[in-house]
Amino acid sequence: MRYAVLSDIHGNLESLTTALELTKPDDVIMCLGDIVGYGPNPNECLQLIRERAKTVILGNHDVAAIESFGLDYFNDAAREALLWTQRVLTRENVAWLSGLDYEVRTPDYLLVHGAPVNYFTYILDNQTAAEAFEATDARLIFVGHTHLAEYFSRSESGRVTRHSMRAGGNLKLDPAVRYILNVGSVGQPRDGNPKASFAFYDVENGTVSWQRYDYPIEPVREKMAEVHLPRRLADRLLVGR
Ligand code: ZN
Repeated sequence: MRYAVLSDIHGNLESLTTALELTKPDDVIMCLGDIVGYGPNPNECLQLIRERAKTVILGNHDVAAIESFGLDYFNDAAREALLWTQRVLTRENVAWLSGLDYEVRTPDYLLVHGAPVNYFTYILDNQTAAEAFEATDARLIFVGHTHLAEYFSRSESGRVTRHSMRAGGNLKLDPAVRYILNVGSVGQPRDGNPKASFAFYDVENGTVSWQRYDYPIEPVREKMAEVHLPRRLADRLLVGR
C-alpha cells in the first residue's frame, strides 16, 4: 500500500496534473489542504482532487476562501488572491470544502495542515516541532503549510532533529522514532527550489520519499496575468521563494 501525500496545491493545475501523472493507479491519494488561494485554477484543482483523492483536510486558505476566516492575517497579495478566489469558486465547490475536517487520524498516522491541535501553526524550527510532538501521540504526523519539504524526527530520548528534503530524497522510518513529515508544496514551493514537491509513503517498506518535479510554470504565470492576480505571486514560482 502506497500513499501519495499532496499539500498546498494553491490553484496550480499544471503542477497538480504533473504530480498525479507521477502516481500509479493503485496509489491512495491524500491532500493536506490549501487546494485554493494564490493560483489561477481553484475550481479545476478542486474538481481533480474531488475525483482522485481519498482523504482531504482543510487548509487556512480553503477556510478563508469559504468563510473569510482569518482574512485580515494574510499579506496583501495573498488576501487579494483570496478575494479573487471567493468570486470565482462555484457554489458546489464551496459546499464541498465546507464539509471537510481539520484533521484525520488513523492508528498509523495523523494528517493536519500545519500542526496538531493548533491546525494553522507553522512548524518552522526544532522548538515548534518539539511542541507539535508534545501535542499528540501520533507517530507519523503529515503536514504542509510552510511549503518547505523537510522532516523532523524525535528520538526515544526526546531529541528533535531537522532534515531538509529540498532536493528530494528517501527516508527509512525507524519504528522507535516519531516523525513530522512536511511533504512540501505542489503549487508554490518556497524552499528555494522551484521544483514542486509531494511525498510517497510506502507502508510495507516503511519509507517516505520526497519527489521534486518540474512542471510547466509559464502557462500558470500567463493565466495569473490574464485574471490580474498579483505579479509577485507569479514571479515567486520561478524562484521557489
Ligand atoms: Zn499553503
